[in-house]
Amino acid sequence: MKAVLQDLSLEELSALVLSAGEKAFRAKQIFEGLMQGKKLSELPIPYDLRAHLLETYEDEPVKIKETFLSKDGTKKYLFELSDGNLIEGVLMHYDYGNTQCVSTQVGCRMGCKFCASTLGGRVRDLTAGEILGEIAAVNRQEWGTLKERAVTNVVLMGSGEPFDNYANVVKFLRNLTAEGGLHVSARNISLSTSGLVPEMRRFAGENIPLNLTVSLHAVTDEERRRTMPIANKYTIAEILDACAYYFEKTGRRYIFEYSLIEGENADMVHAEALATLLKGRPCHVNLIRLNPVRERNLKGTDERTAQAFLKALTARGISATLRRSMGSDIGGACGQLRAKYISKEE
Ligand code: SAH
Repeated sequence: MKAVLQDLSLEELSALVLSAGEKAFRAKQIFEGLMQGKKLSELPIPYDLRAHLLETYEDEPVKIKETFLSKDGTKKYLFELSDGNLIEGVLMHYDYGNTQCVSTQVGCRMGCKFCASTLGGRVRDLTAGEILGEIAAVNRQEWGTLKERAVTNVVLMGSGEPFDNYANVVKFLRNLTAEGGLHVSARNISLSTSGLVPEMRRFAGENIPLNLTVSLHAVTDEERRRTMPIANKYTIAEILDACAYYFEKTGRRYIFEYSLIEGENADMVHAEALATLLKGRPCHVNLIRLNPVRERNLKGTDERTAQAFLKALTARGISATLRRSMGSDIGGACGQLRAKYISKEE
């Protein structure tokens, strides 16, 4: 596999262009072209420079291999990387814009019991430019430009644990938010972590004030350890402290993901305990009914139980919403499409 030119910042591109004996303004042309989802071979730069770059860098590191359209308008993408690995992403349409969900690793090593992304473990990390390539490719396919983006919001909630690929993810975020590129505001970006406490604290100092989201899914450490192996490493109390620190540093309230699993975390006692745990904190709770995964025998709750859970939280003064499950007819949940695709090919 050749290197990924999309990994480079505008400053790094400038240095590269100058060292190739070209004028500095070429760096901006290259950066803009790449952010628009162009292949290297399509960049409007002199032939020699293009040929020189193509010796070292991939022409198109992230290709859309297939697009699936759900009845509700959600689109699911299967991307192919230069080494043949497959990753997936989703584009969801909301009133306020279009949100793309991106993957940060091929597979995942967190081992959460309810998640399809982790079934085959982690294959490898994505580079910064590969993560960006997912967005540039979708924005282009959807007729977006740099000025009028088809992708307005980004969530790092696809396959992979973003903080298990920290350096590449931070680099990706810097290029995603950079002026002259896609220029997505940090306010329109959410990063979801299974709760890697040291990285959460470190990220608070990066000056990228995005919406920090933590997958909680349980109210006690003991229960959390049943579905999330990472709970053996960090406690809920440590997670809450790290969240408070994030708020202190960025002024941004944080979000908890809580997937409702039948017979596991969705009873009234859980709702009450969750409300007690989060009372008075500047946070929001995103409830979602677990999307059943064929390979796992965990089930989501019914709609009525989910509504009751939501009501129990809001009645206790906790800001919470129950998310609609989108694209379930096209394998919308984490890693489902890739898992299905790989098992079909085998
Ligand atoms: N590794 C990160 C990013 C994944 S984000 C994290 O754990 O936060 C995807 C979100 O969907 C996480 O909150 C994850 O716990 C949740 N999730 C995974 N599988 C799911 C399923 N089958 N149904 C509902 N939510 C699921």
